[in-house]
Amino acid sequence: MSFFRLLSTDFDGTLIGHPSDGRCSDSFADILRSHRDSGGRWAVNTGRGLNHALEGLAIFSAPVEPDFLLTNEREIFSRAADGSWTSHAEWNELCYERLDELFQTAGSVIEGICDYAARSPHVEIIEEGGRPIGLVTASEPVMEEVVSFIGRESASIPDFSFQRNTVYLRFCHIHYHKGSSLAEVCRILELDRSSVLAAGDHFNDLPMLDGRFAAFPCCPSNAIPEVKRTVIKAGGHVASRPAADGIAEAWRVFHQ
Ligand SMILES: [Mg+2]
Repeated sequence: MSFFRLLSTDFDGTLIGHPSDGRCSDSFADILRSHRDSGGRWAVNTGRGLNHALEGLAIFSAPVEPDFLLTNEREIFSRAADGSWTSHAEWNELCYERLDELFQTAGSVIEGICDYAARSPHVEIIEEGGRPIGLVTASEPVMEEVVSFIGRESASIPDFSFQRNTVYLRFCHIHYHKGSSLAEVCRILELDRSSVLAAGDHFNDLPMLDGRFAAFPCCPSNAIPEVKRTVIKAGGHVASRPAADGIAEAWRVFHQ
């Protein structure tokens, strides 16, 4: 029996660890079955794009399919009865529009970041559709330096933000992230935060783990210290086990 109406789980580092065979663990499979049997919904809330997320889920081979896929930390797709994935156009189109506006107003900031990358052999800009959308660094210490630079460079553009996950960083609009996407799924399902469990392990998960959008935040033992601190501050559970086994542990603790 699941107390929760919705699970919002990150994928990499949260459901599959490193290293990992990419398969769903037995304990998490049990949780998913119980949750589904109680009528609960499951959203995979990931930084991956849609196709990459579907590839990961195919290997993961969970006993139930997710109902929602939240991709690139902002887009929402729902699973139709025939198993296909439908864009939640109302949200996604507004998100792209706001992002287009941002890329125009923050043009000089992004140019400055591109110049920084051009000067550093350890920072590479990622482009999509002919425009820079983010970057990758050679290491996490280099990412720290890049994040400090971007913080200074973008201070005058309040809507400019970024999502950071290990050595990857994506430019984004400050109002579109894993937390606001989760809130939109709750709006669709007519749920409030009090019946939502959210699980994540890295910086890009912080917006859904601070208690604003899910009353039951949790993280696996392998989560970064910033995530553990946020989860504790929000009254959630920091698991003693890694990846999906840790999320299954949190689910049981919340039910005690
Ligand atoms: Mg992760």
